[in-house]
Amino acid sequence: TEGPTPLFGAYGIVKRFGDFTANDGVDLEIRAGEIHALLGENGAGKSTLMKILYGLLEPTEGVVTHRGDVVRLANPEAARALGIGMVFQHFSLCENLTVSENIALVMPKGLNGRTLKERIGAVGAAYGLQLDPDRPVWSLSAGERQRIEIIRCLLQDPKLVILDEPTSVLTPGEAELLFTVLERLRDEGRALLYISHRLDEVRRLCARATILRGGRVVGACDPRAETARSLAAMMVGVQVGEV
Ligand code: ADP
Ligand code: MG
Repeated sequence: TEGPTPLFGAYGIVKRFGDFTANDGVDLEIRAGEIHALLGENGAGKSTLMKILYGLLEPTEGVVTHRGDVVRLANPEAARALGIGMVFQHFSLCENLTVSENIALVMPKGLNGRTLKERIGAVGAAYGLQLDPDRPVWSLSAGERQRIEIIRCLLQDPKLVILDEPTSVLTPGEAELLFTVLERLRDEGRALLYISHRLDEVRRLCARATILRGGRVVGACDPRAETARSLAAMMVGVQVGEV
């Protein structure tokens, strides 16, 4: 590979589920300070790769590196310890607990209620993600629930934030707020891995895209230099004129 050592790398990743191969020799390099898109149609293997990078799935073959060293992401705790955070497409929140109680579930033990609420308030104020820590989750909108996931992730000061289809549950106004937060995180030197099939968003946010089809990398590009049509053509594997 060329250039400086990437923050995180995934090399030769294969993931099989029985006879089915969801990732088939994927290479991906993620650099600090970039919003890197992972593009592909439904079933291309995007979420599988994300789950490997967050320690939710072990690859059948291949390695993940952190600053050039091979690491084993045996579980999400191991991923978080290396600075990898994830904002899930489907939230894993307890409906009957409050915002701060939900966040406490993934924070180190011993962080008391008041300190945690202060930290939630501080992160919320810093990023424009205000949220009452005492509200029960059942009373929150989808956008507010995602805000919990983002705050929970940011409280761990992640170096890489993985977002899987984050705008699928958001209103246009909430999506705009999210983009501002993501650009801010990028400008702070963090890396973001952004999964979406909304090509307008990717062209706006991301300076690099890796395109998956059938579990394989079939292309990489600067999406700002592409049209939505040309990106769509790469995803489905046809020439632009045929789309
Ligand atoms: P994407 O996120 O790009 O839509 P996924 O990574 O979720 O794709 O899935 C890729 C393929 O792997 C799909 O065909 C899906 O059905 C299959 N797959 C994903 N997870 C599992 C699993 N746990 N068991 C069996 N097949 C799976
Ligand atoms: Mg997916």
